Amino acid sequence: MAPQHFIIVSFPWQGHINPARALAERLVRAMPSAHVTLSAAVSAHRLMFPSLESPDEEVHDGAISYIPYSDGYDRGFHLFAGDEDDARRYSEAFGRVGRETFSTVLDRLAARGRPVTCVVYAMLMWWAAEVARERGLPRALYWNQPATMLAVYYHYLHGYERIVTEHAAEPGFTLSMPGLPTMAIRELPSFFTNLTDGRLVAAFGNLRRTFEQLDLDVDISPGGRKPMVLVNTVEALELGALASVPELDMLPIGPAVLSLFADGTRNGTNAVVGDLFEHDEKGYMEWLDKKPARSVVYVSFGSMSAANKRQKEEMQRGLAASGRSYLWVVRKDDNDNNDGGDEERSMVVEWCDQVRVLSHPAVGCFVTHCGWNSTLESMACGVPVVAVPQWSDQDTNARLVIEWGIGVRAAINADRFLDAEELTTCVEMVMGDTEEGAAIRSSSIKWKAKVQEAITDGGSSELNLMTFQEHFANDA
Ligand code: UDP
Repeated sequence: MAPQHFIIVSFPWQGHINPARALAERLVRAMPSAHVTLSAAVSAHRLMFPSLESPDEEVHDGAISYIPYSDGYDRGFHLFAGDEDDARRYSEAFGRVGRETFSTVLDRLAARGRPVTCVVYAMLMWWAAEVARERGLPRALYWNQPATMLAVYYHYLHGYERIVTEHAAEPGFTLSMPGLPTMAIRELPSFFTNLTDGRLVAAFGNLRRTFEQLDLDVDISPGGRKPMVLVNTVEALELGALASVPELDMLPIGPAVLSLFADGTRNGTNAVVGDLFEHDEKGYMEWLDKKPARSVVYVSFGSMSAANKRQKEEMQRGLAASGRSYLWVVRKDDNDNNDGGDEERSMVVEWCDQVRVLSHPAVGCFVTHCGWNSTLESMACGVPVVAVPQWSDQDTNARLVIEWGIGVRAAINADRFLDAEELTTCVEMVMGDTEEGAAIRSSSIKWKAKVQEAITDGGSSELNLMTFQEHFANDA
């Protein structure tokens, strides 16, 4: 019998690659005899491994192999850099070229005597599920957002689209979807409410297709096992949402945060190996070392969102007015020579090792766009947050932050502009010496313990991962 061989297929964004790498690492640890291959588009692969002679060269890193597919845009595609025609063209190429080249990857592996026995397709990677089905290969979806988000999309696409669309312009309108708490329109993903930005419509198309694939697997599952979905969350966080789609077998296996369990992510320097962004060489860890416990505000809006010059200046005013030190990530592609001000008080970096920063005792608050990885990382490190959601799932994630009591949500205007005064107030609410601040900090510590416990031996996420592996071992 051929050994188990999982291939994890990921969209070429940092926020998708990070949890895919973490899952790959966990699979090989839990089942050392299995092969694990991670496949992301060439555009990401070449940035993860910049010293390759050819951009699509395979990389073997211990038990994990990295073999890219091509989405037709090997030099990369930036959703927000172009217009809706660009986004449509990209989606078309992603579906066509991605599908073809992924099939070739599977053929190549089989020809080498390492046939894939299970396709784990991350969200948006609908064609990988299609290819797996055509070849009769077992498959599972890897959902790298919270279970609540999966349930919201599922119900939206199974009966709730009309009512949501009818009320899309009423942020305060509330509705209840099966098994979920009542939610306001403003807490739902921006894909439901921003129906005019063709780039979002194109991006949402790949999500719709992912759910169509799940539906096809639901249709053929009666009598057998329901379609499996690995979810990057923790059971204790989302019990209700995990049970709210009875058609699916959702297995929470998070937090999928690589550096929580792998030490091999750094090459002896500060730099994380495998990021899509060049690491800033500034000594920010040493700078943090000099700061008192819980005194620094860490600010980052992730790998995609950008703030315009006016917004950055406004945030800088707000941070300065807070009187606290801050470490701020302003990516190179988003930098308009904002120096952040006084060097003793503040440091601006282009890209950092975020989990290392969040783990530093000096960090007392994370001003975040609430990308799901950032939210989970913050929880895993016990750092309370100021949520400033921008798009996609981030409004829903911000609502979860409030539900769990681990932070506050900044009030922003319709253009998502954040005022300096509001930022100062929110930072003070989270870090200040008040009852409210103390309660938020104590919830953060409580959830940190629960989230970390899930990935210890015998923890809920570890047990779920074993269930998953055993299921596919029986199938292989
Ligand atoms: N990140 C990082 N260094 C930075 C900024 C971000 O390593 O300077 C990582 C962060 O730890 C997270 C990912 O980039 O894992 C961003 O993912 P998230 O889901 O939070 O947001 P997205 O980038 O998808 O909007």
